[in-house]
Amino acid sequence: MKLVTVIGNRPQFIKAAAVSGPLRAAHEELLVHTGQHYDDELSTIFIEELGVPRPEIQLEISGGSNSEQTARMIAALAPLLAEQQPDAVLVYGDTNSTLAGALTAAQANIPVVHVEAGMRSFDRTMPEELNRILTDHCSELLLCPSQVALANLQNEGLGTRALLVGDVMVDVAELMRPRAAANLAALDVAGVAAGEYLLATAHRAANVDDPARLALLTELLLAVPGPVVLPLHPRTRARLESAGLLATLEGGGVRVLPPLGYLDFTALLLNARAVLTDSGGAQKEAYLAGVQCVTMRDTTEWTETVHSGWNSLVDLDAAAAIAALELAPSGERPDCYGDGHAADAVVAAISSLAA
Ligand code: UDP
Repeated sequence: MKLVTVIGNRPQFIKAAAVSGPLRAAHEELLVHTGQHYDDELSTIFIEELGVPRPEIQLEISGGSNSEQTARMIAALAPLLAEQQPDAVLVYGDTNSTLAGALTAAQANIPVVHVEAGMRSFDRTMPEELNRILTDHCSELLLCPSQVALANLQNEGLGTRALLVGDVMVDVAELMRPRAAANLAALDVAGVAAGEYLLATAHRAANVDDPARLALLTELLLAVPGPVVLPLHPRTRARLESAGLLATLEGGGVRVLPPLGYLDFTALLLNARAVLTDSGGAQKEAYLAGVQCVTMRDTTEWTETVHSGWNSLVDLDAAAAIAALELAPSGERPDCYGDGHAADAVVAAISSLAA
């Protein structure tokens, strides 16, 4: 089979790192990078560090509103798919690149394969939630990372197209863990000792685009018992700088770093006392590593992490974050996201489309 895979942002490079190798061993793949994340720190480093094949096509589409960006991607992808005539289009996750790839393929009657299908936060104000729902409903093959995701799709009448394969990010986490665990230089650069700091990330639109919420986020990061290490997403850096809050954070002792490569970030995650985040991927990676997570949102699509007691949803309530950090989770962490071989299951499912 010939597949066109559409990727565009940081977590999608990580997912492609798991899937592209085994996919290319069985099929032909053309990797299209939309350009949604174009900075070297969010893009090139993952391609180099994780061995993602160099994208064959770069669309260089970034910026603008979600609608405008998605529309520009669709306009660029339509002629590309018409020219390439793939047997299927593969998309990952919940970004504008995901929706653009899925919608363009569906409109051209090309089957869509969605990896990380069925995730729901049930918060439709999140742009990612709309992207997930719309992508799932125009996909032919829905490959789910967890039982909960599969049940969500069954509830929406999509069960016959859905399959539980496990989470491809677990494949990458397991493969990279030994190298990341040995990478103590990342802790030296941040100036912290193992087990004695909090690792924080924040970039959700709802937390950083609204100045009042950005101020609450800043207060929370200054209130929790540090040191706090904050590898800063460019979007968040820009918002903090224009609100004059970056200096406030740094003045208050928060160790602000540039966005990190996967091995440095994972080294800091594995050795953190806890993770403080609004990222989906970081919540799950903390769970996999047995590191407590405090999530700066009031919903999550990774609900198993909360039900097991390893993740607390505190929104931007500093007192709730401090209280959550005083708990030391010790319960079971069931293997709800697969066994680290999800990519092989993804490729097998794709191959079944040809049958
Ligand atoms: N990550 C990274 N460097 C960083 C921050 C995050 O490599 O400085 C990785 C992290 O390990 C996870 C992924 O990026 O695998 C999460 O991406 P992000 O938070 O951008 O997206 P989300 O998961 O919220 O969609």
